[in-house]
Amino acid sequence: MGWALGTAKLLRLGAIAMLWAGVVLVHLTLPDESALRASIGGDARTWGAVGVLGGLALTYRAALAALRRRAAPPPPPAPPSGPFAAGELSRYSRHILLREIGGAGQARLKTARVLVVGAGGLGAPAMMYLAAAGVSTIGVIDDDVVEESNLSRQIIHSPDALGLPKVQSAKETLAALNPFCTVLPYRRRMDNETQSLIGEYDLILDGSDNMATRYLVNAACVAAGKPLISAALTQWEGQISLYHPPQTPCYACIFPQAPETGLAPACAEAGVLSPLPGVIGAMMAVEAVKHITGAGEGLAGRLMMYDALDAQVRSIKIARNPNCPVCATAH
Ligand SMILES: [Zn+2]
Repeated sequence: MGWALGTAKLLRLGAIAMLWAGVVLVHLTLPDESALRASIGGDARTWGAVGVLGGLALTYRAALAALRRRAAPPPPPAPPSGPFAAGELSRYSRHILLREIGGAGQARLKTARVLVVGAGGLGAPAMMYLAAAGVSTIGVIDDDVVEESNLSRQIIHSPDALGLPKVQSAKETLAALNPFCTVLPYRRRMDNETQSLIGEYDLILDGSDNMATRYLVNAACVAAGKPLISAALTQWEGQISLYHPPQTPCYACIFPQAPETGLAPACAEAGVLSPLPGVIGAMMAVEAVKHITGAGEGLAGRLMMYDALDAQVRSIKIARNPNCPVCATAH
């Protein structure tokens, strides 16, 4: 439209210029007594002055338009692309390239809320990858402080954080890793009072280091209908599954009773391989990203076990216990 208007204007100006040139030519070529010359003024100087004035007026208008263009405010910056802020699309570009995730999956991560129970060996790598992957809100609950013996595995904590609450140290590391991620720290134990937090999140990751907390988190997730990715470690072995009854068993269907004290010693007594929580914690983040984005096959109904000493990975099918005291009556 603008192009058409501009062209019409140019044609009009061209026609006027040609007409003017013709009149001047008539005055310069025909004799003084010519009737045609007399009918259009008879003096080439008058027409010359008209031409000069017209040219000056056109030049003035063009200069004014150029000045106006230069003084106009710069165009506003490009608006963010969909739900993403400037800088986020390039940050997540390798993720978005994956056919199974794409822009739609990344947008789901952008609105996801994940609660991580325990800011220790499993929670540390799980949270770091969740933040790096673009999960928008990460809640973390833990009542411990950072100790020197944590540093060999819990890579979210640095020596500078010794003595600080683990949730505070985790929040600082995650904020430095991805400023687009919101971290909500809860410096408390997961207990009967705090389990209501589970209702505020879409997905729960349990990386706690004791059976009592695992049972409590499982029961709270079943009651709230929330999916739970639960993992555990001992020495050289780790295990992980996704529990979300009624589609899958709950944790208590598979581990109905806490082992006798001494049969399942905590890492503090039995020891644990330094990178093992990194492997299993990263698997928790992988399964969380898959669950949120809907990519691939998750661990629903399967328990995956990793034996680092023999370099073996096994996956076994798990089924609901129809008499499970936790989930049989819940759904
Ligand atoms: Zn159950």
